[in-house]
Amino acid sequence: MAKTSKTIGIVAFQGGVIEHKKIVQELGHRVIEVREPKDLSSCEAFIIPGGESTTIGFFIEQTGIGKELIKRAAAGTPIIGTCAGAIVLAKNINSNIIPPHLGLLDITIRRNAYGQQIDSFYADLQIPSLKINNLHAAFIRAPIIEKTGTEVKILARHGKEIVLVQQGKILAATFHAELRADPRLHEYFISLI
Ligand code: GLN
Repeated sequence: MAKTSKTIGIVAFQGGVIEHKKIVQELGHRVIEVREPKDLSSCEAFIIPGGESTTIGFFIEQTGIGKELIKRAAAGTPIIGTCAGAIVLAKNINSNIIPPHLGLLDITIRRNAYGQQIDSFYADLQIPSLKINNLHAAFIRAPIIEKTGTEVKILARHGKEIVLVQQGKILAATFHAELRADPRLHEYFISLI
């Protein structure tokens, strides 16, 4: 159990909501599923899950949650995006379909960059600056981070590809850790509160 329990908002329109929820709760924190602007008020950090960035982007724009998340990020609230969530956080998206996005993270990210569903894979990642070895990651129709701005720290690579970055309290992973029930990235993220 965590020393102090935090309240984490998970953007809950589509994608890996349940898997993130389970990890956050197992770490001893409270979860609020965020679907409308009023859901954000008591949250101390936000997770944008993997799934389909066009769908998640559409709903955050339509509901007004996107605007609220931008305000909360400016106020220093930590936000993590995994896979589709990383795309939604990005400033620049390289794709023929550009989903509505928040532009909070100074990266260029290319959607579906490893190929199709069948090209999905598992990998164990090294994150030396967080002292995490062999983080169990799943890459499912994952994007690739092609460029990072000067404020963006690269935390992990898989081969030559950048897979985990941080800019201030904004984190983006091109993979899923929640699908393989590895809580260590969430633990670090929540420590940013
Ligand atoms: N291919 C999806 C997209 O572009 C992301 C896949 C995922 O989140 N696992 O939105």
